[in-house]
Amino acid sequence: MKVLLIQPPSCDPMTDQIFLFEPLALEYLGAGLKEDGHEVELLDARLEPDVESACRRLQPDLVGLTGFTSHVNIVKGIAARLKALYPELHVVVGGHHATVCPEDFNDSSIDFVVIGEGVFTLRELVRALESEGGIRAIKGLAIPCADGMLFTEPRPYTDLNLLPMPDRSLTARHRQSYFSEWFSPLASVRTSLGCTARCNFCALWGITGGKYLRRDPEAVVEEFKTVAEPNVFFCDDESMCDVKRMDRLADLIAAAGIRKNYFLYGRVDTIVNHPELFAKWAKIGLAQVFVGMEDFSDKRLSAMNKGVTVAQQEQAVRTLDALGIMMYASYMIDPAYSREDFRAMLAHVRRMKHKYATFTVMTPLPGTELHAKRESELLSRKPELYDMLHALFPTTLPLEEFYSEMITLWTKAVPFYRIMPTLARFGPHGMLSRIRMFGRFVDKARKLHLDY
Ligand code: SF4
Repeated sequence: MKVLLIQPPSCDPMTDQIFLFEPLALEYLGAGLKEDGHEVELLDARLEPDVESACRRLQPDLVGLTGFTSHVNIVKGIAARLKALYPELHVVVGGHHATVCPEDFNDSSIDFVVIGEGVFTLRELVRALESEGGIRAIKGLAIPCADGMLFTEPRPYTDLNLLPMPDRSLTARHRQSYFSEWFSPLASVRTSLGCTARCNFCALWGITGGKYLRRDPEAVVEEFKTVAEPNVFFCDDESMCDVKRMDRLADLIAAAGIRKNYFLYGRVDTIVNHPELFAKWAKIGLAQVFVGMEDFSDKRLSAMNKGVTVAQQEQAVRTLDALGIMMYASYMIDPAYSREDFRAMLAHVRRMKHKYATFTVMTPLPGTELHAKRESELLSRKPELYDMLHALFPTTLPLEEFYSEMITLWTKAVPFYRIMPTLARFGPHGMLSRIRMFGRFVDKARKLHLDY
């Protein structure tokens, strides 16, 4: 069968200038299908948006689409356009949103929805379509129907060690385009899935039923040997949960003589409790850790079940600083913030002396406890607004003022002199373009209140 896998365009193309990760999930799907002898192409529509031309050229029998919550209407739009052009085409949707809210894809242009890890489900589906039977026996599928979706038996969690190696040849022509900040070109590698923590705003631990699934370090090192890029992003939900595994992985990377720059997710408590692990990783190239700091108050951190304290945050900053590892500090603004809360957040971030910090809006993503508990309070259900920038719970401040306070955080929380060395990593041209882009972003943020 001929299969076209499509990474949809981003909801806001401006984000593609901040980061653009390789479509790793589709590379996994492609690898699985190729093992069965199918012809597979991958279209990264963030870089090549003409989906219709790709379809005309390849004439696929099946198209697979993926997406997060903000992609729901984009995915449905592509499905509708392709189905109108090629009524016989099988249209399959999978990915994060399809997993947490399959019903949102109960659409006449979509034939199948894959729930959860899709490599084996899609292989079995393609096989069944070729042999014209047995679809209802495939685990992990939802089949759109006018009177409600039909669900097959759920698929148990896939052992990550059984997955094929992702097929990066599918993105060969774009490999220089994938990056995040100054990590360019950047490859993504998945070493685990799920998380041991239980933050109430996070959908990731629920997807694996609370399990932390991990690949054997030996297999991860074998994959690293095949990665050409000098920079690697660990696209785990949380990389350092299993300290022993990561310690062993560091040893294996060092023994294999692999030298790359690494960027991964780490929790405040892991950094504080295991500085020796981060010290070991710093030696083999750990350059940046994305740390969910979230808030300035122990009370709020506890309410979101973050499992860390402000005192630990301070220690984590000191630990990474001492090791020369850049902390990508991420804070999450509660729509309930008052003017005083915004002032306190500004003071907190300045006290932390971050070199790099981002601020998103606490978002009730489908699949989270937060969403389940407070769904009735949602200001909007437009998928496009689930971008971590739009407040979806009622704000204490008028919306326009809320965004104006967000702009103050974005522009003032990390003083320019402290961000300067970070910006310098982009080189003179890159630095200028980042400053210009930031200006455009702030202009856009001033109008966010009009999007509802
Ligand atoms: S630590 Fe990160 S990945 Fe783990 S539950 Fe919290 S937000 Fe989710």
